Amino acid sequence: MVTKNNSATFKNFINNEWVSSQSNELLESVSPMNKNEVVGYVQKSIQEDLDKAFKAAENAKSAWRKIGQHARGQLLFKVADVIEENIDEIAETATREMGKTLPEAKGETARGVAILRYYAGEGMRKNGDVIPASDKDALMFTKRVPVGVVGIITPWNFPIAIPIWKLAPALVYGNTVVFKPATEASVTAAKIVECFAKAGLPEGVLNFIVGSGSVIGQGIIDHESLNAISFTGSEGVGKSVAKGAALSGVKYQVEMGGKNPVIVMKDADLDSAVEAVISGAFRSTGQKCTATSKVVVESAVYEEFKQKLLMETEKITVGNGLNEGIWMGPCASQSQFNTVKDYIEIGKSEGAKLIAGGKVLEGEGFDDGFYLTPAIFDEVTADMRIAQEEIFGPVIALIEAGSLEEAIKIANDTKFGLSASIFTSNISSLMEFIDEIEAGLVRINAESAGVELQAPFGGMKSSGYGSREQGEAAQEFYTEIKTVFIKG
Ligand code: NDP
Repeated sequence: MVTKNNSATFKNFINNEWVSSQSNELLESVSPMNKNEVVGYVQKSIQEDLDKAFKAAENAKSAWRKIGQHARGQLLFKVADVIEENIDEIAETATREMGKTLPEAKGETARGVAILRYYAGEGMRKNGDVIPASDKDALMFTKRVPVGVVGIITPWNFPIAIPIWKLAPALVYGNTVVFKPATEASVTAAKIVECFAKAGLPEGVLNFIVGSGSVIGQGIIDHESLNAISFTGSEGVGKSVAKGAALSGVKYQVEMGGKNPVIVMKDADLDSAVEAVISGAFRSTGQKCTATSKVVVESAVYEEFKQKLLMETEKITVGNGLNEGIWMGPCASQSQFNTVKDYIEIGKSEGAKLIAGGKVLEGEGFDDGFYLTPAIFDEVTADMRIAQEEIFGPVIALIEAGSLEEAIKIANDTKFGLSASIFTSNISSLMEFIDEIEAGLVRINAESAGVELQAPFGGMKSSGYGSREQGEAAQEFYTEIKTVFIKG
């Protein structure tokens, strides 16, 4: 294949070697800031490559388990150091490859480092409990052991943090891994894997393979050596991953989409609510699973809130995320760009009123990229598609509600249940919200997007199945429990 722009080619990493695919074919990863810019070439892998990755992971299993949790933790500390040393290069690659601004990409890389250090620390924490036996002379305890070979499939929107929040616990708890990133973020993923490699992982412990979802993603789920699969991505693919894993008796964890509501009550601090809605809805161009996408406002403050929101939205600068002063980058890909444009049209045709943004940016610096301005729809009703479906772009649906009860009903009226927040100064309103809202992440006077790495992360309803990710919760997924009974 003839390569453009002298862009680098990235290989798969199998059994501690950087190798080309047996297909001898490459895929290109293009920049959403300029579709003529190839950020890098990656392997178009096939089943043969995947079999090699699984074989390496299978062979490495026993030795990796035996080196012990403490030693595995120490290795993760080294990985964290290597990523920290390369933070500028990794962040710049992420910005070029998926479009989020450089400060956001740096923040994400720093988050990755913090996650690695958290799980490195797990190397020194307990991995079981002593339980009193009915026989006083017996010792009964649990011991957490690795699951085996874990498949990891990730999306493009957090190309650094999501791989790390799966890889770090998988490895520290003693599993070996076959990792497939989203093709659109595979150059950034390769840079992360390079850091793991530089830190000195033993052979076969982490295997990295790039290829299409339908071939390599599906191939991971179907592979006979797979013991567990952790997936983050869209609802449709996530459900088929869960189905496939359940059929073959493989442990699974799938994190999917969201339609995250924010409720603003009349007793809220409106300025901080506006700030949180802007950040939650438009940071990362709305391409966060926890992004704010419907905002339900109590009638008494609806107009005032709307005016403040419009004023702040106007200040948002859209453009190339490598440039200073840019607040919001482009949509991450042509298909994402098309989806957002489609939803703008759907909103209009459903009778909602577009009161801000939603316009494709044209002219120098914009023509070859996927840029549009952040959009706000007014006069939205709860049954409209823009109030029900995940858009995964910078679009807010504003809905008016007469009471807290009505607001919660509207907020819950979607198949998703990932994150939700309320702005209120009334303690009984917030207590009712905590009880009644259907979401895995419940946030009070804080934006819907925003998670802490030491706390469980995941959704209800169609947003997720299986045990939670991050914090201590990850141990549940990446280990099995052995209950041991020793008769004295
Ligand atoms: P996709 O579901 O399209 O892709 C996710 C991953 O699955 C990619 O690596 C993709 O590979 C792979 N894949 C695609 N088809 C298959 C298949 N048939 N079998 C196995 N794997 C497959 O999601 P996106 O990458 O578009 O990510 C956006 C979605 O992710 C949004 O819905 C968002 O809400 C969700 N998300 C959820 C989060 C959460 O924690 N709940 C966090 C972040 C995002 P390829 O790239 O090669 O197609």
